[in-house]
Amino acid sequence: MKNRWNEAEAAKFAKSPLAMRVYTSRLIGADPQLVLHGGGNTSLKMKAKNFFQDEEDILYVKGSGWDLATIEEAGFAPVKMTSLLRLAQQEVLSDSDMVNQQRAALLDPNAPNPSVEAILHAILPFAFVDHTHTDSMIAITNTPNGQARLQEVFGQRVLYVPYVMPGFLLARKVFELTQDVDWSKLQGIVLLNHGLFTFGPDAKTSYERMINLVDECETYLQKKSAASVATKKAKADFPALALAQVRKDIYHQSKLPFLCELNQSPEAVGFSELPNANEISSRGPLTPDHVIHTKRLPLQMTEQSMVTCVAAYAESYRKYFASHSTPDLKILDVAPRWAVWPGQGLVSIAQSVDRLKVIRDISEQTIRAIQWSEKLAQWQALPEKDIFEVEYWELEQAKLKRGASKPAPFTGQVALVTGACQGIGKAIAQELLVQGAAVVAVDIDQKIHNLKHKALLTLDGDLTSLDFVRSLPAQIVKKFGGLDLLVSNAGIFPPGETIEKLNLQTWRKSLDVNLTSHFELLQVCIPFLKLGISPSVMFIASKNVPAPGPGAAAYSAAKAGLTQLARVAALELGPFGIRVNMVHPNAIFDTGIWTPEVLQNRAAHYKMSVEDYKKNNILKVEITSKDVAELVAAMLGSAFKATTGAQVAIDGGNDRVI
Ligand code: ZN
Repeated sequence: MKNRWNEAEAAKFAKSPLAMRVYTSRLIGADPQLVLHGGGNTSLKMKAKNFFQDEEDILYVKGSGWDLATIEEAGFAPVKMTSLLRLAQQEVLSDSDMVNQQRAALLDPNAPNPSVEAILHAILPFAFVDHTHTDSMIAITNTPNGQARLQEVFGQRVLYVPYVMPGFLLARKVFELTQDVDWSKLQGIVLLNHGLFTFGPDAKTSYERMINLVDECETYLQKKSAASVATKKAKADFPALALAQVRKDIYHQSKLPFLCELNQSPEAVGFSELPNANEISSRGPLTPDHVIHTKRLPLQMTEQSMVTCVAAYAESYRKYFASHSTPDLKILDVAPRWAVWPGQGLVSIAQSVDRLKVIRDISEQTIRAIQWSEKLAQWQALPEKDIFEVEYWELEQAKLKRGASKPAPFTGQVALVTGACQGIGKAIAQELLVQGAAVVAVDIDQKIHNLKHKALLTLDGDLTSLDFVRSLPAQIVKKFGGLDLLVSNAGIFPPGETIEKLNLQTWRKSLDVNLTSHFELLQVCIPFLKLGISPSVMFIASKNVPAPGPGAAAYSAAKAGLTQLARVAALELGPFGIRVNMVHPNAIFDTGIWTPEVLQNRAAHYKMSVEDYKKNNILKVEITSKDVAELVAAMLGSAFKATTGAQVAIDGGNDRVI
């Protein structure tokens, strides 16, 4: 276990106890073996002045919604110790009373809600208190006779607390167990099946006790030859359609669009190939703290069950709910949050890429701990009922809801946009990201990789290469689980030439890029679109289709062919619920081909100013790539749910088209 304490860094935080509290909280947050994604909590007790300038004992405890890795002083809620200590003496305390009374006891009414463990922090008589969900310690406790094993490691230097629900019940339990305790003999508190508390008079002592205790757990696992995990290299390819089907089944069961990411890290593949991977991953989570992120169990994607696995998962989740729920509870969605795919790896399942990351990290930590426990003795998680209580605990669900606003229109949907490096394609990719989609942006130009967004996968390649086109679906499915929205946009504008002078190469190139590559892409995408969620295809054609101009035969013929391809696709794909529509943009001047020089020349050719030339349409408006992108997004979305085979002009109005 790495001790991250650094004297030079620490000195920068030495100006106040609260600053030191920030420093070691971040050290803990930086270590995924200790806490993950907002898990764990820390606190500081010190005197502070209230509004009347009277000194009071205050507990600065991590506020809900803050992550230890990035916490700041403002992330600690200042709560009056007198109130917390009185709350600890209550025989019973409801969740809502606890939350309300903790808020009422805040020194600063604008502070975040104190952690649900605030009372527990308050009763530990040390200035600094740290709490983590360290994987190596939990791996030892999550075995039969886990406590006895831990006693081999820690002896009497820690207090052992049998599992109870976090929050007031846990605080009350610790309160009872510590009435006559000699604190000077203790370095920490082990919460069986849950996590570890350490404490000390200063930040360094509490932090180093945490690191040392965890280090002893790791040494113990090594001594017992239990510290290793299986690893294996991923196979060259995977059945992408199978994963897209599972994603579609999840949608059918939950009515919610989820992204799925295939994790093929050596550890994920190694675990998935264990002969008993399904069985050992079906016993429960690492700590109840993870259940709101991962649900109690992963989905089992065995070959035999591939067709029915999602339905079986949903059914067993409903049963689990029915057997533990109370009348006031409403069932959460029945979708799994991760899956074990034998021979392939793990799958993370979430509605956003942020959540995918949380789930990936937690599932990786879980499979590690499971294997350690199995080598030690046997992986044994908490009983279903205890997990259920935390999963449906309103204070836990509130954590997920915090900050959650109305989801963006394309949340959980996956879009492919070609020719996305610049101009209209880039604007469409950006618009779809803004509207919540996970986007795969493709371009022949390597500069495509300059586009950055957490929900964006960029790929460079030549769409006229069939090998490249055929490789796309698997890359998309591996990253996001499926394909729902296809924007076939890539194109070139060949130099203007009359038919009499038109070079055969120019003609062929235009047909290749502007027509044939779109056919090939559509063809390889169709099996995936059939498994898409509200699937929809957009072709970016041109005003040249309804109103061609001289000198553009190679371009206009290809775009007319593209329009006809789209119309036939609308007929053929409609029965599968896949919509296919087209837009015909004209005179979009904020794209690469329209340099100021070209603009000047064209305007001069028509004896107009550049300004007039740009607005040379019935509405006298200038049309931008963003305007096209907004139209395309609208047509991909639900406003156009009953429209297919449509061609919509976006040209400011053109008397030859109208
Ligand atoms: Zn905890």
